[in-house]
Amino acid sequence: MADPCLSCGACCASFRVDFHVSDLESHPGGCVPVALTVPVTATLVRMRGTDDGPPRCIALKGEIGREACCTIYEKRPGPCRDFAPYAALNIGDEGCARARRRYGMAALGE
Ligand code: SF4
Ligand code: SF4
Repeated sequence: MADPCLSCGACCASFRVDFHVSDLESHPGGCVPVALTVPVTATLVRMRGTDDGPPRCIALKGEIGREACCTIYEKRPGPCRDFAPYAALNIGDEGCARARRRYGMAALGE
């Protein structure tokens, strides 16, 4: 089955993406490019664009709902790795369903 995220991208243009500075490539074991982030506190950074109105992560490429992808997929931060598509039987993240509806798409499994 095709990966539903490849024709979606809604969550990357719906929520703030904040994470610990240790996820940055400037820290041992980190990988997220520093230039794509903004500092929030001494220990917290945010993906650029995710606090804009409307939000859209700077790393997201393509058109939401048609063809979208994360340009730093292998280097994406922890919250993005933890976020799972919402599907039937309540598997995954409810935020996925909310993000899809925000862009006029049905929630997965609906
Ligand atoms: S909103 Fe859900 S289906 Fe869409 S990209 Fe995010 S996780 Fe994937
Ligand atoms: S880093 Fe990638 S997966 Fe995370 S919000 Fe941005 S585009 Fe989406």
